[in-house]
Amino acid sequence: MQGQNFIAGRWIDGITPFTTANPSDLDETVGHYSKLGESEVREAMAAARAAQPGWAACNMQVRADILRKAGDILLARSEEIGTLLSREEGKTRAEGIGETIRAAQCFHYAAGDVVRAQGEFYHSMRDGFNVLVTREPVGVVAAITPWNFPIALPSWKVAGALAYGNAVVLKPSSFVPGCAVMLAQVLEAAGLPAGVFNLVMGDGRATGNIMIDEADALTFTGGTATGRLVLARAAETMTKCQLELGGKNALVVLDDADLDLAVDIASNGAWIQTGQRCTGTERLIVTRGVHDAFVERMAGVAKAYRVGHALDPQTQIGPVANTQQFNENLKFVRDAQAEGAELVAGAGAVECRTRGLFMAPTLLVGTQGAWRCNQHESFGPIASVIRVDDLDEAIAVANACAYKLSSGIATSSLRNAERFRRESLAGMVMINAPTAGLEYHVPLGGRSPSGYGPRETGAATAEFFTESKTSYINHGAI
Ligand code: NDP
Repeated sequence: MQGQNFIAGRWIDGITPFTTANPSDLDETVGHYSKLGESEVREAMAAARAAQPGWAACNMQVRADILRKAGDILLARSEEIGTLLSREEGKTRAEGIGETIRAAQCFHYAAGDVVRAQGEFYHSMRDGFNVLVTREPVGVVAAITPWNFPIALPSWKVAGALAYGNAVVLKPSSFVPGCAVMLAQVLEAAGLPAGVFNLVMGDGRATGNIMIDEADALTFTGGTATGRLVLARAAETMTKCQLELGGKNALVVLDDADLDLAVDIASNGAWIQTGQRCTGTERLIVTRGVHDAFVERMAGVAKAYRVGHALDPQTQIGPVANTQQFNENLKFVRDAQAEGAELVAGAGAVECRTRGLFMAPTLLVGTQGAWRCNQHESFGPIASVIRVDDLDEAIAVANACAYKLSSGIATSSLRNAERFRRESLAGMVMINAPTAGLEYHVPLGGRSPSGYGPRETGAATAEFFTESKTSYINHGAI
């Protein structure tokens, strides 16, 4: 892949070349790209500024058709884009294709949003008046995205912003820009007017700061530490912010759970997609009666997973996405052991035919809720088990963590499930389902510091990507 930046409808090279490596085979270069200088990033922001009013005024059906066509093209190219995703990020090919299909669904949903957009009519306190509440585009949206969902995540941000008449400048993660390049190709082919969507590659802080300063709104997904920096910068210009950040998601397993189901959802949440989902399960809070049987079954599942090259159809768990994350994962496990955690599955790096970043699904037991390994996000295929006495203690432990993104419970009691659903502080609660696995037609996100500002997707899309206008109309006595 030779990927360029895309500004005002033109494909341009930046000034600092960089490459990406295949995490399944570090000897293979996947993409050649280049980072822009400051003036080109400003040019992209200016292009969005210039194009936005025309896009907002563009016929509604035309806008809907362009977004629907973008979804159609993503579907038609799903194998190609999914394969690139696999090579650059390390998800299995099936996961890569699945993620591309999700991206297409986001565009199709957004096409519907264009024609569903509504306002409100009120009678007035004053005779001869009406009141209208309408929604208008925010203007220029800066979208900054992480490496773990390189096509779906930019797509739900970009599709949502475009649906409501905004222009967008997207900065993808420098680890995985290839899918963003393909998204730009798709939008160009779908007939999006020049400047309405722009793609910039650059260093997070330098490029991000210009984008934040010059945008009307910032939609950001990434780590909580980066989120704090971004928020502080946005405060200077009072740029509207939506931040989706880290998680330390807990799954509670009660004595009354269906054990097969509990193991299934716990292993899926903890290890599928190499544990690199913000909603992945990192804490397993298990009541005493089922603890030992659960741990034994989970260790068996962890050891049975086939870890390997993302393009090998036999692979169930692909590599860790990049060397930095790989080293952090191994250190996380060592630190947890130093704290007193016992390793019952996963012995660190896994050797395969290629020189990749393969890591065994890891299960730590005998941990305490307050330990570092249960308070800090690992973002790898690592889960720790915390033994508790009952539901009361399980809820207390689940909530005793700063992160509040997703949570779940495995139980056959409706009463226990409902109590957990009400008392969990997480933004998303799963009953007898993995903590990860979200749908695109409903809101997504967590409470601070896992999120900040309006949620994303579904009905929340309009909340963030529009500004409300209240109009009082004196039409006189009729
Ligand atoms: P980072 O926070 O490191 O980076 C995210 C994006 O921010 C990248 O594009 C990065 O650019 C950019 N960036 C870095 N520094 C700055 C800055 N100072 N100002 C503006 N932008 C900046 O996250 P990762 O890419 O490592 O992604 C993993 C994290 O994302 C995890 O913590 C995970 O939980 C979270 N996440 C949250 C989700 C949610 O919905 N809550 C969903 C998915 C992931 P560059 O790559 O060039 O450095």
